[in-house]
Amino acid sequence: MPERPGRSAMRIIREPVGDIIETFEQRYGTTPDGVVAAPGRVNIIGEYTDFNQGFVLPMAIERFTTIAAGRAKDAASGGPRVAAYSANLDDANTFSIAKGKLASAGTWTDYMCGVFSEFVDRGMPAESLNVMVESTVPMGCGLSSSAALQIATARLLSHVYPDIVADDAIADLCRTAEHKFAGVPVGIMDQYCIAYARENHLVFLDCRSETAEHIEFSDPDVAVLIVDSGVSRELRSGAYAERKQQCHDSCQILNVDYLRDATEASVEAAKDRLGDLLFRRAFHVTAENARTENAVAAIRSGDWDKVGALMYQSHASLSRDFEVSCRELDVLVELASGIGREGGVIGSRMTGGGFGGCTVSLVERSRADPIISAIAAGYRDATGIELTAYLSAPAQGAQVLDI
Ligand code: ADP
Ligand code: MG
Repeated sequence: MPERPGRSAMRIIREPVGDIIETFEQRYGTTPDGVVAAPGRVNIIGEYTDFNQGFVLPMAIERFTTIAAGRAKDAASGGPRVAAYSANLDDANTFSIAKGKLASAGTWTDYMCGVFSEFVDRGMPAESLNVMVESTVPMGCGLSSSAALQIATARLLSHVYPDIVADDAIADLCRTAEHKFAGVPVGIMDQYCIAYARENHLVFLDCRSETAEHIEFSDPDVAVLIVDSGVSRELRSGAYAERKQQCHDSCQILNVDYLRDATEASVEAAKDRLGDLLFRRAFHVTAENARTENAVAAIRSGDWDKVGALMYQSHASLSRDFEVSCRELDVLVELASGIGREGGVIGSRMTGGGFGGCTVSLVERSRADPIISAIAAGYRDATGIELTAYLSAPAQGAQVLDI
């Protein structure tokens, strides 16, 4: 069922804090030394541009992964270890943090273990810790619960062990951890946004310089609506590597290092040499970079119709030219555009890697409820799937919470 709108960031952050301290104390018999909350994220526009050193425009969402940690006694044997419990999975896991012994185990704690490993390499004392994880970020839906878990871990360690890693280095550290532990060569978008986003701002991130501008997004009449298609993205994970390779191949033909250095015009001019497939891949990326820059300008001037048009164009390009959408995502965007401006929908597109996951739409806040109901009904008719909807204002990045 659709979620009710109007949750404020503070309410969502504060509620779990009381709980997490209590559950921590019940489980481990001590009070935690620190509690951190890190949000999920959604990308408003700029899809498949990150590994091409282009532009992305994500925001943190009002859903948080909260972690509490406290120093613990070492086990009788085996040296220092982390005992972690996820309330979401109701699963406990223990891993060694003795230097040289941190290893991937194929479980959810790998996201934490990878971060611990980087901290231990930089001189963090290897002492035993108890860790409690609770999250309101849905897992595996493309809202980056994995990076929220990593960044929450990193921010917590930089809080409990100050001077080991500076706060402005944790996004990069977490990306390195993901490369090493999950073997996924991801861009910087998720970690950067989750670590450093500001309340009521979008993060306009240049994936070449890895620097960002925080773009104010606080029009009280405009709401961000995230709709989860309920279709798992994992089925097509090989497609990500394939698209990356195709972008690389088009760079060779265009004689540039990254598609960031090409333009729509230069891709058009090389159409024959690229061939149909690489032309469409490269055209998407260059046009999407331009759309992202144009969207920032339009948001700055409050031109919502322009922002909406760019979102629909982004979706069409991802669906037809980059071919990373799927029927369900197309149906969701068609339903949103069918409601249209008269019905309060400003724009809509798939967001994230595609082949399932979520769409992101901008809607008139006062009409969000009937819009969600109409999309849910249409989606049920077309696919038989019950969708889940989230409304969120741009939230604050990772925060250490008062305990
Ligand atoms: P997404 O990042 O889009 O949510 P991923 O598949 O990348 O999807 O990451 C989801 C995985 O991250 C989960 O399967 C689990 O291993 C881990 N994870 C995320 N949040 C939690 C949590 N609260 N407790 C335990 N594991 C979590
Ligand atoms: Mg993830």
